[in-house]
Amino acid sequence: MGAGVGLYDLLGFSMGQVRGLPGHKQLSRHAALELAPALKRTAVHGAIRYWDAQVDDARFVITVLRTAASYGARIASRTQVTGFLREGERVTGVRVVDLESGSELEIRAQQVVNATGVWTDDIQALVGGRGMINVRASKGIHLVVPRDRIHSSTGIIVRTPVSVLFVIPWGRHWIIGTTDTEWSLDKAHPAASRSDIDYLLTQVNRVLRVPLTSDDVEGVYAGLRPLLSGESDETSKLSREHTVAHPVPGLVMIAGGKYTTYRLMARDAVDAVAHGLDGRVPRSCTEEIPLVGAEGFPALWNSRYQMARVSGLHVARIEHLLHRYGTLIGEVLGLIEAEPALGQPLTGADDYLRAEIVYAASHEGARHLYDALARRTHITIETWDHGISVAPEAAALMAGQLGWDSRQTAREVEHYRARISAERAAQDVSDDQEADAIRLGAPDIVPLVVGTVAGGER
Ligand SMILES: Cc1cc2nc3c(=O)[nH]c(=O)nc-3n(C[C@H](O)[C@H](O)[C@H](O)COP(=O)(O)OP(=O)(O)OC[C@H]3O[C@@H](n4cnc5c(N)ncnc54)[C@H](O)[C@@H]3O)c2cc1C
Repeated sequence: MGAGVGLYDLLGFSMGQVRGLPGHKQLSRHAALELAPALKRTAVHGAIRYWDAQVDDARFVITVLRTAASYGARIASRTQVTGFLREGERVTGVRVVDLESGSELEIRAQQVVNATGVWTDDIQALVGGRGMINVRASKGIHLVVPRDRIHSSTGIIVRTPVSVLFVIPWGRHWIIGTTDTEWSLDKAHPAASRSDIDYLLTQVNRVLRVPLTSDDVEGVYAGLRPLLSGESDETSKLSREHTVAHPVPGLVMIAGGKYTTYRLMARDAVDAVAHGLDGRVPRSCTEEIPLVGAEGFPALWNSRYQMARVSGLHVARIEHLLHRYGTLIGEVLGLIEAEPALGQPLTGADDYLRAEIVYAASHEGARHLYDALARRTHITIETWDHGISVAPEAAALMAGQLGWDSRQTAREVEHYRARISAERAAQDVSDDQEADAIRLGAPDIVPLVVGTVAGGER
């Protein structure tokens, strides 16, 4: 382990780059238990302390998109590719359905990139011919528990019989994960089952002095890893590398990989696009491009007390907003200045301000209540009632931005409740098939187009 983490530190400093985090340190059993008193004495022989970074996945995606848009990219969310435009063998664009309006459009392009994660094979099927990349979906779930349930000043990583278990600090919570099991059911809504939850509780309780029970779990969420298919039957043994392919002229496919390597993945895909374009394309410079909200962050962080004084918000709120929006905080504070009631916390989800829901709709492309409560914020997994009580207030805030009438607002709340209740019910059954069927009992507010391959699971 020491050699592995040492190599990790070394790689961080290689090629003249500064990792920006302290190096690792070996700890005695006594020192480890002082940092993490929650651990059973018998479970610890010693430890290695190392530093790492974390990312809020949904906010990361929106930030990358907003950065791209600031350089001229056009973003079309809630659109589904239903087919390809072809000139002979060559792909010349895509046929798309705008899922909100139902209208169809054709988007022409010299090169199309297919970066659809676990849907890669479905899109490949739309192109026809022999697939060049095979992707398998691996389900991973996480549990969210309150911070006071595990007494530790550091995150914890321990080995399990098949993999490793992470206990990661997350605001006022811990995130415990993860599982790694094959998933061949509905890709849009992987369902966490009772067996997934029990597995994590069993693993974490092997090392905790005070065991956790299901009652300690505030939230559960599930995702799918797009893994390049190989010889192994076990998804945990499949590669986390990515690959780029050019199956037919005009089409580039990229699949596999991880968030951590997203920029390299994008660079490799764009290099493949550039290869297929006429004329010269300059070298990728994304390594030097700060994401929106990053530039000037240290200076703004230093002035957080002043921002608190000017805005009338507590400095803890300003820190929360800086962590979530970086230097875009001014846009959120601007909403509060214009309408001071937006500076109030949400009732039933008081880690978040009312302005954050408005901002999700006005600046971050949230179109539905679930987008705001589960993706732009994490109220769904960070509150005991999963955002049910705050849903009407949040929907009313979004209604003002998106022009919903009272019927649409009520519909949003109803869909949200139904979705949460289906997700919770799925977590009560042990079998994936059954969990999937229960989860699909709550249809999406804007369903995918049925009958096309990408949405063809149902
Ligand atoms: C439990 C778990 C833990 C993980 N931990 C880590 C970690 O610690 N570090 C790390 O780096 N990575 C981690 N990952 C991996 C990381 O989450 C994935 O690699 C990443 O989300 C994959 O991104 P993607 O863009 O390739 O695919 P996705 O995020 O699945 O995006 C594919 C997109 O394509 C869209 N799409 C599909 N079909 C169509 C269509 N017909 N038309 C239009 N759009 C379509 C989908 O709607 C979707 O938005 C983890 C994953 C899981 C599940």
